[in-house]
Amino acid sequence: MTTRAWAAQSATTPLAPWSFDRRAPGPTDVHLRIEYCGVCHSDIHQARNEWGGSMYPMVPGHEIVGIVLAVGREVGRFQPGDAVAVGCMVDSCRSCANCRDGEEQYCLAGATFTYNSRSKAGELQQGGYSTEIVVDEAFVLRLGRMLAANKPAAAPLLCAGITTYSPLRHWGVSDGMRVGIVGLGGLGHMGLKFAHAFGAHVTQFTTSTSKVEDAKRLGADEVVLSNDAAAMQKVQGSFDFILDTVSAPHDLSAYAGLLRRDGALVLVGVPDRPFELPAFPLIMQRRSVGGSLIGGIAETQEMLDFCEEHGIVSDVEVIPMAKVNEAWERVVRSDVKYRFVIDCGTI
Ligand code: NAP
Ligand code: ZN
Ligand code: ZN
Repeated sequence: MTTRAWAAQSATTPLAPWSFDRRAPGPTDVHLRIEYCGVCHSDIHQARNEWGGSMYPMVPGHEIVGIVLAVGREVGRFQPGDAVAVGCMVDSCRSCANCRDGEEQYCLAGATFTYNSRSKAGELQQGGYSTEIVVDEAFVLRLGRMLAANKPAAAPLLCAGITTYSPLRHWGVSDGMRVGIVGLGGLGHMGLKFAHAFGAHVTQFTTSTSKVEDAKRLGADEVVLSNDAAAMQKVQGSFDFILDTVSAPHDLSAYAGLLRRDGALVLVGVPDRPFELPAFPLIMQRRSVGGSLIGGIAETQEMLDFCEEHGIVSDVEVIPMAKVNEAWERVVRSDVKYRFVIDCGTI
């Protein structure tokens, strides 16, 4: 099936229109029309080969929401007309210990990601900056009534949402815990909303003075400008958990020192260069540093259901496809409030 899309043909070319064929839906596949797709900073890192190993042509996009057009004959959970979503993965081995635990993102055979990744059969996958997609029903998510009525604002939940929800849950963030969120972009603003919804006392760290008032509106109890040394000094040793969503290289030891005894600093941001981290801030208070990759399919559905129940969506700016290169430049400048979402009907 011919699919219209915008693709990067190399690490140095802007996104431009491109057409390609999606596979014909098999017995367990769901064929959906993509209505909206969020713009994740990972789209930019990968299209520009900032992590290495990128494959072209590349149609980015893994925050996909749309409507079911058709289903294969063995599909039981979906039917045409359903409001559905697809996130960062479209397959995994389904039999390794991690897959059996519902942690397909850590599949020991390597999950198939939505783009810049090959299927088990070796086919290069193409993402959501396109008009339609075919995905096995096991990797299709369901949108409830509220999210289906707010599709553009629901799209970023599929990556920014689950990537922050999962570590907050895994590290047990709950009532009264003191939590820091570093970076107020797409991931950061969702981390802030979830940590607040889980009952934590939340401090937002930002480098942008223009985001301070927004941070409070989005649920922050306190906001600290991370380039203000005195303000950083004041909150030393006071956090149980810090989630770092920053996309660019920065000083991690400054954040490690903000943890209480046994506190954890967890990275979800993926800068293109390694961090330098001295041992002292870690050994002094038995602090740890960890990382987390998106979340499993069952947990992604749990997160969507939590959002449905608690009225949580992203703060988005909807753009036509033709504005995507401009939007990417703004993301790189930290000038996004707080997620661009492409109206794929404009492709
Ligand atoms: P984003 O919207 O661009 O947000 C990143 C934020 O980081 C910016 O808004 C800015 O916040 C802060 N920042 C940027 N440059 C900085 C610098 N030089 N120093 C300090 N702070 C800086 O990006 P995103 O889409 O949320 O993604 C964030 C990162 O997570 C990316 O690296 C992305 O690839 C990664 N990611 C990881 C996963 C995973 O599974 N682990 C999933 C999705 C994305 P302030 O203006 O508030 O300072
Ligand atoms: Zn993403
Ligand atoms: Zn597996």
